[in-house]
Amino acid sequence: MIYPEYVAKIIERLESRGFEAYIVGGSVRDMVIGKAPNDFDVTTSALPEQTLEAFADFRTIPTGLKHGTVTVLSDGEPIEITTFRIDGKYLDSRRPESVEFTDDVTADLSRRDFTVNAMAYNQARGFIDPFGGSEDIKNRIIRAVGEPCRRFDEDALRIMRAFRFSAQLGFEMEKDTLAAAGALAPKLANIARERIGCEFIKLLCASNPLYSLELMRELGIFGYITEGYFPSTQTLSALHRAPATERIRLGIFMSECESERMGEILKGLKLSNKLLSNTKNIAAKCATVLRGSDSDARRFIGSCGELTEDVIAAATALGRIDGEFADYVKKNLQKKVCTDNRGLAVNGSHLVKIGIKGREVGAVLSRLLEHVIEHPEDNDVEILTALAEKLTETGGANDIR
Ligand code: ATP
Ligand code: MG
Repeated sequence: MIYPEYVAKIIERLESRGFEAYIVGGSVRDMVIGKAPNDFDVTTSALPEQTLEAFADFRTIPTGLKHGTVTVLSDGEPIEITTFRIDGKYLDSRRPESVEFTDDVTADLSRRDFTVNAMAYNQARGFIDPFGGSEDIKNRIIRAVGEPCRRFDEDALRIMRAFRFSAQLGFEMEKDTLAAAGALAPKLANIARERIGCEFIKLLCASNPLYSLELMRELGIFGYITEGYFPSTQTLSALHRAPATERIRLGIFMSECESERMGEILKGLKLSNKLLSNTKNIAAKCATVLRGSDSDARRFIGSCGELTEDVIAAATALGRIDGEFADYVKKNLQKKVCTDNRGLAVNGSHLVKIGIKGREVGAVLSRLLEHVIEHPEDNDVEILTALAEKLTETGGANDIR
């Protein structure tokens, strides 16, 4: 296995100074699987200040000195270098009270969560795999390092991580690891909501979310994520068919939830305001089957705005859109016809010029929009101005045509 030159530089520099250094964690796992790693983390026997000294001629950022982490920019790529460490006692299932540095790479690997994440590799020294991570990769298994109950008790977020990795890698949960996840699930109550939310969303965006989600439901874990809300199997099976964006996947998952409750649940996950409102919109729009006429399709686009394509993707995955309606939407999107006030050939100041005042401006604009949605060919300044005049003459109450 060969890691990129900018990583080799870091490892070789540390080794040339008499330290041990390896790539570790997700990058080794991904390379063994045959996937390109997202990023490379390095673990080393060098103490943080020794690492800083070794890279005095590099740009370094003291990311988490207390926990032994220094970030070094190697050819512009950030690499986190962390000193071999043993975690001290855990406080309330969250963070270790203290960390202790060690010169033993196996001790460092033993604090890591799953065997597949507890391997180190160095091109000269080869693999360090004391817990059988590569065997578990071969057998496609997520297994806790050491005694699973103890490991989940130390840090309950690992329960979420186990299911997340299982979904991302398409691996099965090892029997004891799964039993421990169920037994220790109540400890999730001690974990910060946003960390749970973040793992849950990563899981939803994975390529195989179904197996994990069903197991988590059986173990009662959704009580700690969505106040117990869980959709039907039919909705779940739409997930892997939909694009893997956070709002689409979460929107699909929440699409059976009543609107007020959905708001509460999503707030509880501490999502960003934008993700929260997009998710709510997508979920609400595809809660029922989308169907209708050509002009309904334009009205639909107007009400979805920039979320139109996401709503269509979610509804398609859910089988909740009529084929003809989907074609109308596609055609209208392509033609870029007017579907909202911004697309109208006239605006407020046009109306003010012909003597329409105050609140009436908005009311007339919405009548004009409704007209243009029915008759896209009429989206023209002259036609609409004439219609506006006619509308105000008749008091705005009658139909324009
Ligand atoms: P990803 O591809 O999602 O980044 P990753 O394996 O790199 O996956 P990270 O959360 O970036 O995951 O963590 C890096 C490594 O740190 C993990 O591979 C694992 O060895 C260790 N680790 C992370 N979080 C924990 C935890 N809560 N308990 C124990 N070890 C952990
Ligand atoms: Mg990572």
